Amino acid sequence: MDKELKKIYKHKKLMDGVYGITSSGVVCYLITGKKQACVIDTAYGFGDLQAYVRELTDLPLIVFNSHGHIDHTGGNFYFDVPVCIHEKDVEVYQRHNEPAFHRYMEKTLKVLNKIFFWRILVPKHPESTDEGRMNFSNWHFVREGDMFDLGDLSARVIEIPGHTQGSIAIYFKEKKLLVTSDGANAATWLYLPESTDLAEYSRSLHKLEGYDFESILTGHSLKLFSRKDLEEWIHVAEHPGFSHAKKQKGGDFAPGVRPLQVWAEEDTKHKGPSIVIDPTRLE
Ligand SMILES: [Zn+2]
Ligand SMILES: [Zn+2]
Repeated sequence: MDKELKKIYKHKKLMDGVYGITSSGVVCYLITGKKQACVIDTAYGFGDLQAYVRELTDLPLIVFNSHGHIDHTGGNFYFDVPVCIHEKDVEVYQRHNEPAFHRYMEKTLKVLNKIFFWRILVPKHPESTDEGRMNFSNWHFVREGDMFDLGDLSARVIEIPGHTQGSIAIYFKEKKLLVTSDGANAATWLYLPESTDLAEYSRSLHKLEGYDFESILTGHSLKLFSRKDLEEWIHVAEHPGFSHAKKQKGGDFAPGVRPLQVWAEEDTKHKGPSIVIDPTRLE
């Protein structure tokens, strides 16, 4: 394999036929069936992700974007198949993949490089990929209930608005596995301009609860979460403890917003999961 690609991406087998591919703090997934494989999310796009995936499988690929953020869609343009995305996240996708925003994110990551280990993972000349990003229009819009047959494995689209309006989860019935990415995790960001209100996020979590699953995979961790974790995420969303919430710095995804990180009412020591909200949007 290309040496540069090996520096940019690493992978770990998480279950039979399920790989987590990590890059700059983001996790994408490769999930293989007998006839087809699917890639969920494409990270920032700092290297040819399709070439990396091709080292792991030669099956025909289906590519999904769990939502439109740059850390999950930046590598779309490396793929020569249409990318499945929810239409409601196209605006976010375009905003995040616009060259000025993309370069700004790369700069931010370069600053973080000084603290962490990402120095080698950010390309020296990001502008060389601008055209690829901006010309990308190879969509396949998906919505609730869409099914994909991967051979002995099915992939089903579940709409889970919350983190963004067009966030989707993918359900693999035969593996009892849900991939929720940023849409449902242990500290879901709900403070972004494209986020929904808390009630809608909570409805999305309850919808996931109705599926027969054992494991959940998210967008920034290789951990396999369980049904019990989902129940705790629901509890936080429905019993937020505002009295011991913590102000956060906010960031590039929502300029001007001063988010509030909120744990469950009784979790005053902040040991469990949290949500991050925009306090000005609470009624
Ligand atoms: Zn996101
Ligand atoms: Zn993310």
